[in-house]
Amino acid sequence: MTRLPSSVHVREVGPRDGFQNEPERIPTADKIRLINALARAGLKRIEVASFVRPDVIPQLSDGVEVLHGIDVPDDVRLMVLIPNSRGLDNSLKVRDKFHEAAIFVSASETHNKKNVNRTVAETMADNDKMAARIKAEGLDCAAVVATSFGCPYEGKVDLDRVLGLAERFAEAGATEIGFGDTTGMANPAYVKEFFAAALERLPGVEVTAHFHNTRGQGLANAFAALEVGCSSFESSFGELGGCPVPPGSTGNIATEDLVSMFHEMGVETGLSLPGLIDAARAAQDTLGRKLTSHSIVAGPVNWN
Ligand code: ZN
Repeated sequence: MTRLPSSVHVREVGPRDGFQNEPERIPTADKIRLINALARAGLKRIEVASFVRPDVIPQLSDGVEVLHGIDVPDDVRLMVLIPNSRGLDNSLKVRDKFHEAAIFVSASETHNKKNVNRTVAETMADNDKMAARIKAEGLDCAAVVATSFGCPYEGKVDLDRVLGLAERFAEAGATEIGFGDTTGMANPAYVKEFFAAALERLPGVEVTAHFHNTRGQGLANAFAALEVGCSSFESSFGELGGCPVPPGSTGNIATEDLVSMFHEMGVETGLSLPGLIDAARAAQDTLGRKLTSHSIVAGPVNWN
């Protein structure tokens, strides 16, 4: 029997990856209230904003207001997503409001072009410079490789290509690399092979799994990654989320479902499952539609 990690880190990405996919504008005050609820559930890592151009993703144009408005404990590490040097300039105007900056690239040329309208080479050249600036500011630099497990336009994405990009990020100073299954194309068998290789090739780097539940395989993929020693995960309360391209590629794995699974297997997260479910239910009320998370409906497992 495989020995599972005894504890894992979970980063909540709903306020960025989740909210950016919501068609209706969420009032800033509601975002602040929901982020505060997530922090009260014990989350120590939350991705709260993105410094994309406001005309590209209007939903996230209030990032600065959100950063100013939230009230979370001092030990919560706040992450912002940085798409380019202009975004980094803007984020550094509120440098003291967050701790981690995430830069990204898509592993496949076509997805990268559609997502940020640049080639992978152009994106990585900018990423090298941004990583240096982020480090110089004393912030943690995280990097994300999107479409790591498959591209909706190109199909298979070569493992060596993905890990090559990750190694370049590490050389540039990223201390954490997230691998995104942006449109839910991963399967558990491949995830095992992938994370075993990633953990071996990225010593000293935190390797993070970011699965979308587009085809219902998100939790199986998380378990597969856990089994080969991955201990850092990202998820989204209420199963909110998706990706702007292609349209309709919805759903991160739900934080409350992921945490329920971990706790039932004896893997510690430090999180309050009832608190997470409360936050997801509050998101459901705020958005005014049924969310797809299972734990919202079922609640925690009751063994009595
Ligand atoms: Zn995502």
